Amino acid sequence: MNHSTIRKTLAKLSLGDLRYFDSIGSTNDEALAWAAAGAPDLSLVVADEQTQGRGRLDRKWFTPKGSALAFSLILHPGAALRPHLSRTVGLAALSIADSCSGLGLVPRIKWPNDILIDGKKTAGILIETVWSGDEADSLVIGMGINVLKGSIPPAESLQFPATSLEDALGMEPPAREKILLNILSALIDWRERMGSEDLINAWEERLSFRGEQVQVRTGSEPPITGELLGLEPDGSLRLKDGGDKSIIIRFGDVGLRPTA
Ligand code: ATP
Repeated sequence: MNHSTIRKTLAKLSLGDLRYFDSIGSTNDEALAWAAAGAPDLSLVVADEQTQGRGRLDRKWFTPKGSALAFSLILHPGAALRPHLSRTVGLAALSIADSCSGLGLVPRIKWPNDILIDGKKTAGILIETVWSGDEADSLVIGMGINVLKGSIPPAESLQFPATSLEDALGMEPPAREKILLNILSALIDWRERMGSEDLINAWEERLSFRGEQVQVRTGSEPPITGELLGLEPDGSLRLKDGGDKSIIIRFGDVGLRPTA
């Protein structure tokens, strides 16, 4: 993977600009600085390796050389997106899920920001915002996808099991550039339908643990347990407690686990 193979593979998409790095601290950091400096809509930062890859709350995201797909996409929230910013994580998750389905896999979205295959984490999403006063000026959508076996972190560093596309397929997956093309094509399509019920329905259908008992940890509050029902129109999670009462979980520092 290099600048020219990426540029060639993505040629048919109407992207902004491209920055490619053999190694970088974090693609999101680069994209945030670039967005603040005026990067055009749909500009892309791709790296072969991240040495300081970040998950939420500065947790580490592991991106070793030559085996993972790590990139950050800059979006300018236009008229279609602006009223639905809280759906952005769904936009990203669906795009990864669609690309996995295209490979014949059965992906599930562990709300809010992880993609599971065979119940194991295969991809993660980190969304950050560049503000201009109270308005979101740009969104940075960071994605990390475990493509080859070598991208899976050592088990002792994980709180949730992980896998890769190669493991899930039982064979070598397509080139990372091709997977990137599929994710970005899906994202560009879904972005046109940000406000539609289709997006929420497709997102909800892909949720993992639907109809199952889950435990949700929010910040330092005691965990909430309930049956995972689905999504609210803004992408918040809806559970049902033991007394049939709905509980709505909003985004933030949220960790979801099956209780079984
Ligand atoms: P969890 O998945 O435990 O609920 P989270 O979704 O809050 O946590 P994120 O911030 O999305 O976590 O991702 C960071 C976590 O993901 C790390 O703390 C690490 O446990 C795990 N992780 C890091 N790199 C990878 C990777 N390449 N593949 C799978 N899991 C990873």
